[in-house]
Amino acid sequence: PRETGRQQMQEARTLLKKYFGYDDFRPGQEKLIAGILQGRDILGILPTGGGKSLCYQIPALMLQGLTLVISPLISLMKDQVDTLRELGIAAEKIDAQTDLDRYHEIMAAARSGQLKLLYIAPERLGQEGFLRALKQLDLGLVAIDEAHCVSQWGHDFRPSYRQIAASLADLKPRPVFAALTATATAQVQKDIVSGLSLEDPLIYVADFDRPNLYFNVLAPANRKKTLLSLLADGQCAIVYCATRRTVEDVCDYLNNQGVATVPYHAGLPAQDREANQEAFINDRVQVTVATNAFGMGIDKPDVRRVIHYNIPKNMESYYQEAGRAGRDGAPAEAVLFFHAADIMTNLFLISQSYEPDARRKLNAMLGYVYTGTCLRQYLLHYFQPDREKTGPCGHCAICDGRIQTSDVTQKAQMVLSCVIRMGQRYGTSLIIDVLRGANTNRIRTEGFNHLSTYGLLAKSSKGEVRDIMTLLAAEGYLAVVGEDYPVLKVTEKSRALLQGKVQLSMNRPFKERTNQVELATE
Ligand code: ADP
Ligand code: ZN
Repeated sequence: PRETGRQQMQEARTLLKKYFGYDDFRPGQEKLIAGILQGRDILGILPTGGGKSLCYQIPALMLQGLTLVISPLISLMKDQVDTLRELGIAAEKIDAQTDLDRYHEIMAAARSGQLKLLYIAPERLGQEGFLRALKQLDLGLVAIDEAHCVSQWGHDFRPSYRQIAASLADLKPRPVFAALTATATAQVQKDIVSGLSLEDPLIYVADFDRPNLYFNVLAPANRKKTLLSLLADGQCAIVYCATRRTVEDVCDYLNNQGVATVPYHAGLPAQDREANQEAFINDRVQVTVATNAFGMGIDKPDVRRVIHYNIPKNMESYYQEAGRAGRDGAPAEAVLFFHAADIMTNLFLISQSYEPDARRKLNAMLGYVYTGTCLRQYLLHYFQPDREKTGPCGHCAICDGRIQTSDVTQKAQMVLSCVIRMGQRYGTSLIIDVLRGANTNRIRTEGFNHLSTYGLLAKSSKGEVRDIMTLLAAEGYLAVVGEDYPVLKVTEKSRALLQGKVQLSMNRPFKERTNQVELATE
């Protein structure tokens, strides 16, 4: 079997090159694919952008029969199916938009063995007719994307994921189950194994760390000028912006300043996008300015810098985009521009959409901007909270002292006590007003001017108190809850801070920071 194992992996590598154009598997992909080909269930935990889809797409091409892919997001399904079809791989999806004729066509193709991959949403498994049809198929592999949705501990719990195992339990012969996710806590791992009834799975947890990346957060007074000086060393870079308009604006600016730059966003005609991408990959231009549409399917290993001109909406997007720097393992830099107005826009959009999960994720992202501790530690702790705590990394802007930090433990304690004294029923603005000793009607009527915490932070600016509260929320010392409007409550964790058992430090993003790192040029 070892010999056939090696042959199979050789074939897998051939297919990787033939269909996807890549020379090597990423760490993890190889182990997980080998596991599947040996007929073992697998659980793969890889960061976003780590290449989870190939882990089942390659085996799907090699195994007998159909691969069923269960995915929670219609947009994700569409992207994947489109990409696979462009590569000449027989893939289909069934979703709410699929009409009955099309549905029968797809199922017929599946029965005839023409189809290699079939994507469905988990809810589909609740339909008797579909399950009956499924039982007549030769099913080699069931891949469950975003497998953490089965866990109630995760933040994206989907009840329909709980039904997957039962719905597919009496398939004969039993297909191999491949579960994939980017959520890396031990609890979620356990839930996935039991919730999906994986049998003695091969588990691979990728190390989320990217040691060659230097992390930096800047708060430039003039973003364009700072950007220009960052790019002055001529090294190849991607600049991510939040909107198409900003992309065009920044791109024009750089070209006017003599930096060869191309734009990339979904509003450009396909042939322009392709040409721009081509120019960047072949080093005919130094910089791509892009929205988050750029990156899908792009593998340029020697990008030296990824600069975020606007703050991304969550850490997952940030780490995925920043991770496009330094794929070759050589030193590279990930810079995040912090811009107060940007943050207000984000907070506003999120308060409008009122999606608690989006708010939680944005808070974590803001925490990265505000944290006074090692940026790498902060990132890794977010993605791998069970990871053994290592010391500060020595290779980020906080560790090497480029970012000034200050101890805010005492002020944070004042904020927490004030939240408690006010009864944990109010939002940020009122708490700030009480802490700063504002003399308003509301405060007098509620009697908050008699609290011992009233006016404790009279000398701090509104912005500073808000920053501290954002940091507290981001680090889990304050919970943002509430039905109609966000209310702040203290958490289990707050006690240690109130008792002075932990310290809290914060960076000072509102002061201009234009610290720069020189990347080694050879
Ligand atoms: P995930 O699902 O883990 O977020 P994807 O499967 O979408 O990640 O892959 C992210 C990107 O990495 C895709 O553009 C994909 O083509 C690319 N990729 C995957 N595997 C490899 C590899 N072995 N070599 C180079 N690029 C790869
Ligand atoms: Zn560090």
